[in-house]
Amino acid sequence: MATATENERVHCLIIGSGPAGYTAAIYASRANLKPVLYQGIQPGGQLTITTEVENYPGYADGIQGPEMMVDFEKQAKRMGADIRYGLATKVDFSSQPYKVQIDEEKWIEADSVVIATGASAKWLGLESEQRLNGYGVSACAVCDGFFFRGKEVAIVGAGDTAAEEALYLSKLCTTVHMFIRRDAMRASKVMQERVFNTANIKVYWNTDTEEVIGDKHVTSVKIKNNKTGEKQEIPIGGFFVAIGHQPNSDIFKGWLDMDEAGYIKTIPGTSKTNIEGVFAAGDVQDKIYRQAVTAAGSGCMAALDAERYLGAKGIH
Ligand code: NDP
Repeated sequence: MATATENERVHCLIIGSGPAGYTAAIYASRANLKPVLYQGIQPGGQLTITTEVENYPGYADGIQGPEMMVDFEKQAKRMGADIRYGLATKVDFSSQPYKVQIDEEKWIEADSVVIATGASAKWLGLESEQRLNGYGVSACAVCDGFFFRGKEVAIVGAGDTAAEEALYLSKLCTTVHMFIRRDAMRASKVMQERVFNTANIKVYWNTDTEEVIGDKHVTSVKIKNNKTGEKQEIPIGGFFVAIGHQPNSDIFKGWLDMDEAGYIKTIPGTSKTNIEGVFAAGDVQDKIYRQAVTAAGSGCMAALDAERYLGAKGIH
């Protein structure tokens, strides 16, 4: 439990630094809420590990994800947001002001909280996948693909992320073996077409990964066709997992209403959670759209909701 003494007190505390967090910071600053934003473990969020973003309105020629997040941060700073490096490690929402612990050390007291902690990559759950993580196993082709130039690699997944990453890897690697657990891809048609039209991406349908093999580094992967039972071992240097994400909501469990997957529930059409004065924006509360632009839009909503909430409470 947080102690009530000597804690820093802020009107609007924003947790997270993706499009949702920074947009909330821009709006909250302009509303004179003097927001303090903690960036979390990955400043800039998931877009810092993507390449080209072609669908964010306003960037007519597209932009690199990391560069876009630098722009977001600059804009939030220019509006006056206090942006800090630090990870929210615990919360106490039992009474006002709400308390949020940073880096397992200091507590911040906040009249309103905007949660924009995003989502993180999912893993298959194989022992060998965890053991070789960082030694050929990765959940980010854009971060780690470079290490596998001129080698054969494999990727698991069939959504837009897997398609995008397979295409990225195909430019660096000799062959990309793509394992898809069903007989269809979830990715958008345009991304599927690109995958099918890339000569060095080899698609394996109805395929499960049984084990990633390697002593110090990945050397091969064992797969199984889940229709025929046929097994194969394929020599590879890198194994990429692109099977979706899970919301970063663990520290809010027990305080906020969530769905079975851990996405924070908000009142439809608002960013309000079940605790008044605590708002959620971006991927931590959105399992449907998950786009930078929708995250930014919901960050704006959260700041406006916080402004109204503080105004109604007479806190300025
Ligand atoms: P998705 O949830 O869309 O896809 C996850 C994929 O991983 C599915 O094909 C799923 O298979 C597969 N999968 C899940 N668990 C396993 C498992 N244990 N073993 C094997 N395969 C598994 O996640 P994405 O990260 O691809 O995309 C998230 C959202 O972001 C989507 O809305 C997507 O459209 C969007 N996006 C948009 C981009 C763009 O517009 N440029 C780029 C990247 C993402 P199954 O289909 O069988 O369930």
